[in-house]
Amino acid sequence: TVAAPTWAARLRDIADFPKPGILFKDIMPLLADGDDFRAAIAAMCARWRGQRLDAVVGIESRGFILGAAMAHELGIGFVPVRKPGKLPGKVLREEYTLEYRSDCIEMHADALPAGARVAVIDDVLATGGTLVAALALVRRLGVDVVGAGVLVELDGLGGRGRWEAGLPLHAELVY
Ligand code: IMP
Repeated sequence: TVAAPTWAARLRDIADFPKPGILFKDIMPLLADGDDFRAAIAAMCARWRGQRLDAVVGIESRGFILGAAMAHELGIGFVPVRKPGKLPGKVLREEYTLEYRSDCIEMHADALPAGARVAVIDDVLATGGTLVAALALVRRLGVDVVGAGVLVELDGLGGRGRWEAGLPLHAELVY
């Protein structure tokens, strides 16, 4: 095991959010601190240095914050995976079941050229439903998903087990 990075202290647990029985990992205090936000983004970017990436795909909403910061740092594009009805152009849609509701996600059908190499980014991996749905969605564009990255993996909810074997899934912190 490796010592937790100092910025890990900026994450906090909120009980019974968004509904009773859920212990919510809140990353807002981390985002609010300039040095620690920067350090966390640097750690997430380090996973992809030295390989060709054309874009970061970020999942709404907190995946936008982390993913866009990473794309900027890596000097590559950013493509959003959004909740339904938000994107103005022609979309592809993927339905899935989440920890506390069933939902669907969309992305622009022309967001990326076939063969583009991307990493999919979100804040928290819980059951894995969101990330697995995003993987399937992005692949429908003919895009090459080289892996995924999350800030926090909540162990014991089965997320990693649902992820494709052999495809990199980087988590900076595991709880
Ligand atoms: P999953 O689909 O069950 O893996 O849930 C992951 C999605 O739900 C991500 O988009 C997260 O933003 C959100 N999520 C689930 N649990 C938490 C949490 O404890 N803190 C923050 N986000 C969470």
